[in-house]
Amino acid sequence: MKIDTVRAIPVSVPFAVDFDVASGGVPAADHVLVEIETDAGVTGLGEASPMPFFTGETQETIVPVIESHLAPKLLGVDPSNLHAVHEAMDEIAGNPLAKTAVDIACHDAVGKALGVSVSTLLGGAVRDRITVGQSIGIKETERAVADAERYVDDDGFGSMKIKVGGDPERDLERVKAVMDAVGDRASIRLDGNEGYTADVAVKQFEAIEDYGDILLVEQPVPRDDVPGMHEVTRALSSPVLADESVFSPQDALQVVRRRAADIVNIKLMKAGGLFPARRIASLARTANMPLAIGSMVEMGVGTAAGAHFAACQPHATYPSDVKGPSLLDDTILKEPIRIEDGYTYVPSGNGLGVEIDSKKVERYQVD
Ligand code: MG
Repeated sequence: MKIDTVRAIPVSVPFAVDFDVASGGVPAADHVLVEIETDAGVTGLGEASPMPFFTGETQETIVPVIESHLAPKLLGVDPSNLHAVHEAMDEIAGNPLAKTAVDIACHDAVGKALGVSVSTLLGGAVRDRITVGQSIGIKETERAVADAERYVDDDGFGSMKIKVGGDPERDLERVKAVMDAVGDRASIRLDGNEGYTADVAVKQFEAIEDYGDILLVEQPVPRDDVPGMHEVTRALSSPVLADESVFSPQDALQVVRRRAADIVNIKLMKAGGLFPARRIASLARTANMPLAIGSMVEMGVGTAAGAHFAACQPHATYPSDVKGPSLLDDTILKEPIRIEDGYTYVPSGNGLGVEIDSKKVERYQVD
């Protein structure tokens, strides 16, 4: 089996909700759909879902990186040989999102060609649905409470991730209000998105721990402040989740060695795809660290990949964020991913188990 063509299609799907975090706002889902055609007659689908403040890549960088730089190295490569696929791509440094889109498309193509699901390729699913939560951005307290009540009472989500890392007092007020509103029927996660110093983080999260039960604290301090992560992890009784601190397997090893967190947040987009993400998952499991499977608000294709990945990790015991389509106004899939009552259902069928609706792709394609 060989890769014949690699296409990168920029698409912009409007958000259904506003989406703000400590490190910046996200105006629209400006994503990239990837199609890899093979000589076996199957086409693999992939996706990149950039958040520029998070990884530095954008739709405008990803398309030419894939089409002008990665594609020429990939033509003729066997997509089932993921070592060769990544070796070819890694001739170019960085660009984890562009590589993730290609990696997902290779998995999809191979699954379709072999007549098996991506879960089977990843070692087999241990669950057929993923527990997912919703996020509450940094916003006015009243709106945060209204969002939380809608997510829990109307949409059935059982876990809230409250974004903090802004002004500590305003963060505290908002967190307490959301805990008062839904804390009795949803687990509470707090995501600092690198916004605090270690000192502020310890004070802030100790005050919140005194106020009520929280499930975890995510990325309280900047990604490179590993000593700060260690300090917060040591001080708090709640577990600390490393997100921005872990992109690569090497980052994960550093977190394990320096006890800089209790849990690792794996996002396919950070890792460079399913293949490198498996190395992080194996490393964490070997170190007895549980996982949370995060998301960069992927559309249906990327969400399907995240769901297959989460389904295959026995130690992914914390709520996942693989529910991007619930934040978007429309889907480019023929059959949307089922996200219901706090679960994302892993699509069945060969490969990722999803099909794109070409009319929708045309509608949302941008230049
Ligand atoms: Mg995070």
